[in-house]
Amino acid sequence: DSQDSTVSDGENADPRCTRQNSVTSVSQWDIPYDELVHGEVLGKGRFGIVYSGNWHGHVAIKELRMDYVNDEKTLEAFKAEVSTFRKTRHENLVLFMGACMKPPRLAIVTSLCKGHTLYTHIHENKDKFNMSKTIMIAQQISQGMGYLHARGIVHKDLKTKNIFLESGKVVITDFGLFNVTRLCHDSRRGDWLCIPPGWLCYLSPEVMRNLRVVQRQDDALPFTTYSDVYCFGTVWYELLCGEWPHKGLPPEAIIWQVGRGMKPSLANLQASRDVKDILMACWSYRPKERPEFSQMQSNLNRLPKKRLQRSPSHPIHLSRSAES
Ligand code: ATP
Repeated sequence: DSQDSTVSDGENADPRCTRQNSVTSVSQWDIPYDELVHGEVLGKGRFGIVYSGNWHGHVAIKELRMDYVNDEKTLEAFKAEVSTFRKTRHENLVLFMGACMKPPRLAIVTSLCKGHTLYTHIHENKDKFNMSKTIMIAQQISQGMGYLHARGIVHKDLKTKNIFLESGKVVITDFGLFNVTRLCHDSRRGDWLCIPPGWLCYLSPEVMRNLRVVQRQDDALPFTTYSDVYCFGTVWYELLCGEWPHKGLPPEAIIWQVGRGMKPSLANLQASRDVKDILMACWSYRPKERPEFSQMQSNLNRLPKKRLQRSPSHPIHLSRSAES
């Protein structure tokens, strides 16, 4: 009897609700492209163009470059990334708001980050953070990353360009987008390896060893939660030293050295043993020897909040060589 079933259906009694609930979860996050109001271009990356914009408030719109890729595989990769994004809710991760998923208009809409990236602070503005701020930033990165890993998500592209600092709060962006990025660029590659500036310092030995001169779509680089921890090590180094590891080395030398298990020199790093131990552990050659982010948080908590002062009675021997 239809009346009975309506009653027993509880919250789905209204047929409009039932229809709404049956709509697939992907389309819940579908934003009609026409609803987006584009503002200024914030920048161009490997992924495409990022605009500030408006969609029920200020947002960032990441538009995937579709001018030469329009195959089903890209679309599937994109949808997979979107479904990854949907699973994230953490105060140190950028807020995913929805996506435009109808080619040729593919875009991801997130909250607009205020403030600067750590990259801008460290490498452009040459800002120096004191030890307690450095630890506070590292802790928040660890929290966001620990959450991602607990949800089974590998960031794949953790770097200072993808970490914003908004009045003391860390916001991590671009998790899981690496595959889409790569798909967009493969078809234009020639017989050479395109290495975006600054990228190599974040590649763990096992990823480095899998770089190919012509990187095809099916030889995906072996990114894991462990390779994310390696990236964190590099971010930790940049925070501490204000510069890149391997400074001044040509790309070929970095690839060769890291692939063979050599770590960057710590000669420029004035820090206590505990601080360096975190770095060494994150940069371990064997992935499983790298700490998990939950462990990292307790390691960071134990650090003294004051930077070690180098004095004549406390000389260079603390700058332990980083070679494994
Ligand atoms: P790469 O492509 O090598 O990762 P990138 O990080 O600069 O380089 P995008 O991530 O595409 O490239 O970002 C382009 C620009 O947009 C950068 O200046 C970035 O800081 C800015 N941006 C990205 N996401 C946001 C956001 N949610 N809020 C504010 N600005 C953003």
